Order: sequence, then structure tokens, then C-alpha cells
Amino acid sequence: MTLDISTLFAVTVFTTGLGGFLLLFAWLQARATTALAWWGAGFIVSAVSTALFGARGLVADVWSVQTSGALMMLAYALLWTGARVFEGRRPLLPAIAAGAIAWLVAWQFDAFAHSLPVRIALASCLVSGYSALFVRELWRGRRDGLVSRWPIMGIAIAHAVFFPIRIPTVMSLSFPLGMPAAHNGFTSLLIFTPLLYAFALVFLLMALTKERAELRQRYAATIDPLTGIPNRRGFSERAERLLARSGKDQSAATLLLFDLDQFKRINDRFGHRTGDAVLGLFTQSALHSLRPLDLLGRMGGEEFVALLPGVTTATAIAVAERVRHSFEIAASEFDGHPVAATVSIGIASTAQGHCDFDSLYAVADAALYRAKQKGRNRTETGWPLSGTADRPDTGAALPEMITRA
Ligand code: GH3
Ligand code: MG
Ligand code: MG
Repeated sequence: MTLDISTLFAVTVFTTGLGGFLLLFAWLQARATTALAWWGAGFIVSAVSTALFGARGLVADVWSVQTSGALMMLAYALLWTGARVFEGRRPLLPAIAAGAIAWLVAWQFDAFAHSLPVRIALASCLVSGYSALFVRELWRGRRDGLVSRWPIMGIAIAHAVFFPIRIPTVMSLSFPLGMPAAHNGFTSLLIFTPLLYAFALVFLLMALTKERAELRQRYAATIDPLTGIPNRRGFSERAERLLARSGKDQSAATLLLFDLDQFKRINDRFGHRTGDAVLGLFTQSALHSLRPLDLLGRMGGEEFVALLPGVTTATAIAVAERVRHSFEIAASEFDGHPVAATVSIGIASTAQGHCDFDSLYAVADAALYRAKQKGRNRTETGWPLSGTADRPDTGAALPEMITRA
């Protein structure tokens, strides 16, 4: 395969430049994703560098070799910075300029300027170094489940490996480009690699940012914005998974259903904003009394739910009482108002034979209803499935623990 080298260079310049503009355009549509701007700038700088290099013999060497090389280092530094910013880290301005400056400073030494192998060695070290940093940034965030990360890392590693092989071939071309020269297929292929790199990378970087935006949207749809905990949908999805795991391990799990008492009256007396703050206060009280592995969610309005894996009914009652008591203290006064908010709690355990979320929820709801009927600000436990030995450990059975404090 023999390709016209000057055409290849022109195509590389246009593809890389166009890729850069596409990334910048994507950034204009999603300004929060500043990584796209860094990557876009990186590709445009790379296009200018390739154009200058391709013009060797037509422009002075200071442009086609020195400046072009410095711009190439800058382009790799910008790509790395994009990855850094994508992972939520700050750009390191001195490190961005370091590669280009090192290249330009080296040119001041005759030994460097007159030795092609030394120049190749420095260029390869700098490009491989920035590529390694680029890969390291993407590797850092690998646990977020974005699959586009992996081909990007693979391409960057392959490119860093190919780069040192490519330079001598490119340097051996006859300039100005387009003059008749004996270029074989391998040469064409090597010159082709930055084109493929730019093409694949632009596509994958766009896919990566899009993938993360979608993941974040999906996550946001499962979170309650007022309290920051899972909403009904988010909670039931996670609860089903947790219950399936408990079922497999044959360990108990307990569901706590919370409903704030006379909440409508609190809203009417102190305003909706105070009502909202009380919901936040409840969330904090509950999170404080639960373990990190317990699941807390807001089912809607002033109703919350918690799933405690590996916890028996007796322990769950103690936890519920801790939440109830700490909330009563925290919400007795808010913003100078005697809010005196309290919570009623219904409990259901898988140990009583109810193993899926919906039936656990129904049992806890019935227990909660009894707590309301018995005067509110108390904890009640659900009834086991008919035929199961232990009948209710309700207010009557556990008078100290579950009646009004
Ligand atoms: P009970 O003790 O029987 O549960 O009485 P309640 O007043 O708490 O129950 P009810 O279901 O009658 O009222 C719930 C109230 O919760 C009504 C609604 O205005 C209020 N509410 C629901 N969502 C929000 C919210 O996001 N913020 C505020 N401030 N209030 C809310
Ligand atoms: Mg309610
Ligand atoms: Mg209520």
C-alpha cells in the first residue's frame, strides 16, 4: 500500500482540527464538562503542530521543527489536563507548559540540535510521559462503571508505544512533502496512526462524557432533592437487591417505616419552609442512628423508610426508638419555634416470613397505622405471617421500649 504522503498529512490536519472543533462544540452545549474544552484545545493545537511539520521545507525549520515540536508537547499536555479535569482535579498550569518549555530549552544546546536520536529520545519521553499521566487519570476513576474509559486507555497506551517508532520514519521523509519519494506501505501506515488516533479518541471522549451525563441523570432520578437520600424509586430498587442478598445468605432484614406526626399542623402553624427543614432534621437524626450499610429513603411527603440488613426485630426496635427519641429532642424547637415534631414507626422483619419489599412494606404500614391509632410518637411491630410462632411484640408485649417516651 502506497499513499500520497502530502495528502495524508493534509487529511490528518483536517481530521484532528475538525475533531477539536467538534469537542469544543460539545463543550458549548455542556459547559459544565470543561474537560471537553481542554480536549478540544488539545486537538486543535495538535492540528496546527502537524500542519507546521508538514510544511517543512516550505517554512523555516524554527517553525516546522522547533515550534511544531513544542506545540505537539502542549497538545499532549492539554489532553492529559482534560482527563484530569474530567476526574474532578484542578489543571496544573506549570506541568502543562513544562513539556513544551523543555523541548524549546533543549534546542539551545548544539549537542541536542545536531543529534536526531537525542531529539527523538526527548520527544518520545515527553509524549509517553504525558500519555502515561493521561492513562493514570482515567485509571483513577475506573470504579464509576463508565465502559468508554477502557478503549481510551488502550488507545493512549498503544499510541505512546508507537510514537518512538514513528518519529524516525517521519523524519526520514523527503521534504517538502509531495516530492517523489520511495515511501512504502509501512511508512504510510505509521504516518496514518495519528489520524486513526485522533479519529478514535474524539469519538470515544465524546462517548465518555455522554455516558457520564446519562449515568448522573439516572442517579439523580433516584435521589430526593430535599433530603439527598434515595426517593421511592431509588429506595425500592436498592431494597430489592439488598433483600435478595439477605435471602441468599439466609440472614434477617428489617424494614422501618416512619411517618411524621401531625405534620400538616406543623406546616400550617410554622410555614412550609420550617416543614421542609423538619424533614431535613429527621433525615439527619435517622442517618445518625443507622449504620452506613443500612438503607434510608424518603417514600414521599413526610414518610420515610429504612431497611436494616442482618438485624432482628428486637434490635430494630432499639434502633427505631433511638431514631424516634433523637428526633423528638432535635425537633422540639426549631428556629425559635416550639415545633415539637415527633415520628411514629412501624416495623416488619423478614424473620416473620415476609421476604419481598412489597409485603414487608404492607406489614410495616399496618404496624404504623396502629402506632398512629395508639396516640403517635411510638413504635409498633408488624404481625408475622399466619401460622408463624411468635405473635405480636407490639406495645403490649414491649411496654418499656415502644410506648411513648
Ligand atoms: P399524621 O400524624 O396522621 O400522619 O398526620 P399528618 O398531618 O402528618 O398527615 P397528613 O398525611 O394529613 O399530612 C401530611 C402533610 O405533609 C401534608 C403535606 O402538606 C405535607 N407535606 C408533604 N410533603 C411535604 C414537603 O415536601 N414539605 C413540606 N413542608 N410538607 C410536606
Ligand atoms: Mg403521611
Ligand atoms: Mg404524618
